Amino acid sequence: MSSPATAELLARRERALGASYRLFYEEPFAPVRGEGVWLYDKDNTPYLDAYNNVASIGHCHPAVVAAIAEQSAQLNTHTRYLHPSIVDYAEDLLSEFPEPLDNMTMTCTGSEANDLALRIARCHSGGTGIIVTRWAYHGVTSALAEVSPSLATGLPTASHVRLVDAPDSYRKTGDFVASVKAALQDMQAQGIKPAALLVDSIFSSDGVFSPANGELAAAAQCVRDAGGLYIADEVQPGFGRTGGQRWGFARDNVIPDLVTLGKPMGNGHPVAAVVGRSALFDQFGRQQRYFNTYGGNPVSCRAAHAVLRVLREEDLQTNARQVGDYLKQGLQELAERHPLIGDIRGEGLFIGVELVTDRHTQTPATACAAAIVNGLRRRQVLISATGPKANVLKIRPPLVFAKEHADLLLERLDQTLNDLG
Ligand code: PMP
Repeated sequence: MSSPATAELLARRERALGASYRLFYEEPFAPVRGEGVWLYDKDNTPYLDAYNNVASIGHCHPAVVAAIAEQSAQLNTHTRYLHPSIVDYAEDLLSEFPEPLDNMTMTCTGSEANDLALRIARCHSGGTGIIVTRWAYHGVTSALAEVSPSLATGLPTASHVRLVDAPDSYRKTGDFVASVKAALQDMQAQGIKPAALLVDSIFSSDGVFSPANGELAAAAQCVRDAGGLYIADEVQPGFGRTGGQRWGFARDNVIPDLVTLGKPMGNGHPVAAVVGRSALFDQFGRQQRYFNTYGGNPVSCRAAHAVLRVLREEDLQTNARQVGDYLKQGLQELAERHPLIGDIRGEGLFIGVELVTDRHTQTPATACAAAIVNGLRRRQVLISATGPKANVLKIRPPLVFAKEHADLLLERLDQTLNDLG
């Protein structure tokens, strides 16, 4: 049961904030402090964070805290003044991308990055049509809400938007590439010129899928042939999370036209970007200016640069691969004892565990997933669930997650699964 103080805060929050705000867990969690992979409540009880991908290099990493404090004490302005922080960071970040991705624009959120990417794609193609997956999430602006069907069931699909099947490696119900081709044909039939295919490289909200068989490359080619761009939404899989590569798209050997970044980029500080070919930015920039008051400010750039350096110095991408593989192995062992586990997938430290009431019929075990998420929370381990039926456990911890943390997660998950009987 929550304490009287928590109950009071909850009541005040409900009074002061609108209905769109949702909390995790039946018993809301109120952390007051974070460090590495741990979040602490007011009684100093540690909770293992196996969910938060934003604090990618660990909660409250001292290098980021110092960079923010130092730059805030010196100067914080915007991109209308010449300052080395954005140039230093841009050069360094772009060195992490394959050619010809050699330009970038900074924003404050992943949504702003996706929104700008769509504007650039429309400018380049002269079209309006956008293709996204059936249960996609790409952000909060009006334009992105139209391409984020996972926001609510039953939302009407805008006339310029086409929804396609995610590459579901478990049910194998849809065919991603065929679906993209059909969407392009349908647009053509309706006189809609395609602007972009926008996909999350790890298909997070669709249920966590990581195709590596050329599907993304094939779909990207179809869209380019039709005059549109392929935009890789790397807001979730980017910055080494998938272990084998820095960016999710690299797994499929495809180079996007535009890449959008966010979440882990500032380890909690709001900073995001669009990366792409300079010709695209030039074409867009010649027609209209882009000024984002806070995007690319010196404090954000210093924070983001500190994150990038730590990512390299601590080789967190390798850690993501090694600990991710170890964790998946442990989950496979649990699956031998717990038939509820139908599928284990994902890459590096982005893991999806699909729960089913029956492995043969693959019926989604939605209620069990909620029970496990809440049961783990009571055992001081934080995860969540995703997918169209919310039956895929989403395990996506800070990249400083070590094998001992994986062991703890596995032990508590085993106990929670046993409790479900
Ligand atoms: N794209 C994806 C794949 C995301 O998961 C999110 C955030 N959940 C966004 C875009 C939007 O990012 P932000 O919340 O920073 O606007």
